[in-house]
Amino acid sequence: MSLLEIRDLHVTYGAGAAAVRGVDLTLPAGQKLGVAGESGCGKSTLALALLRLLPVSATLSGQILLDGEDVLTMKWGRLRAVRWAGASIVFQGAMHSLNAVHRVGDQIAEPLLLHGRAATPAAARRRAGELLEQVGLPVTRADAYPHELSGGQRQRVMIAMALACEPRLIVADEPTTALDVMIQAQILGLIERLVDVQSISLLMISHDLAVLAGTCDRLAVMYAGRIVEEGPAREVYEAARHPYGRALSAAFPRIGDAASRRAPRGLPGDPPDPAALPPGCAFHPRCPVALDLCASEDQPLRATGAVEWRAACVHVGDPWRQS
Ligand code: ADP
Ligand code: MG
Repeated sequence: MSLLEIRDLHVTYGAGAAAVRGVDLTLPAGQKLGVAGESGCGKSTLALALLRLLPVSATLSGQILLDGEDVLTMKWGRLRAVRWAGASIVFQGAMHSLNAVHRVGDQIAEPLLLHGRAATPAAARRRAGELLEQVGLPVTRADAYPHELSGGQRQRVMIAMALACEPRLIVADEPTTALDVMIQAQILGLIERLVDVQSISLLMISHDLAVLAGTCDRLAVMYAGRIVEEGPAREVYEAARHPYGRALSAAFPRIGDAASRRAPRGLPGDPPDPAALPPGCAFHPRCPVALDLCASEDQPLRATGAVEWRAACVHVGDPWRQS
């Protein structure tokens, strides 16, 4: 059984249009799955849905099976137990996720106490110190307030918090996007090493396909609330079958390419607003190889012919058949 199985997930904010439209994804235990897509494609909505951290205005349907148990129907008590201890999230820009008025050591200690992973505050602080060392920070930084740390150090603290209760899944939503290139590579290396050593599954989200290809086993490309391609990470990065996947990898030719982040190559325009989706394939207005029928016919994910590699494009293989 897979550690995480997302089935036909839909998320709608308020009375608006759906930001996530029928996502199916599977993450086996110990694997690393990347989700790529431009800003506004629904990646963070997907990440937040996994632990039901969305605003109350959001309506969800489908299933999110974590170890076979549906997060969407869990009682609150069970959900509280699952957060941090079953799965935890590392967000972009740790400054907003950390509490400005508490020392970082105390913030790492908090989930440990809450989840009974430390018997006393003193034991929790000791463990927090160990976790800081694991993420490459000196124990003495436990006494620091978030504003006394650099962006990279704050992101390390977030990773320490995420690891604290030994979850089986870590969701990292653009964990390095706010950092400069050198620090970005260090943090990515750290995440990769820690999840490998502890056999934690990783769902990593980024707009940068190169970053994901360097870290993950498999890659899913998201556009306008849907997965439009899913397959082995390296291969998808190097030779995406969906024109959107190709445009994204052309836009980010190297890990942490700051210049291309400012001006993505070969990808003019923006993803559509959920309230104004074009008919047919949502990508067709920006697609360099669109046919007439793409303006009226939406494309399901289909087999590409390569093993465990699917893409939702009219130019791709036979309709995918579930076995
Ligand atoms: P990404 O992480 O890929 O940039 P998001 O999941 O943040 O995408 O956003 C997907 C869509 O949902 C966007 O159109 C965004 O404007 C909308 N959205 C995100 N958060 C909210 C919210 N709290 N209320 C209403 N709409 C939202
Ligand atoms: Mg986001």
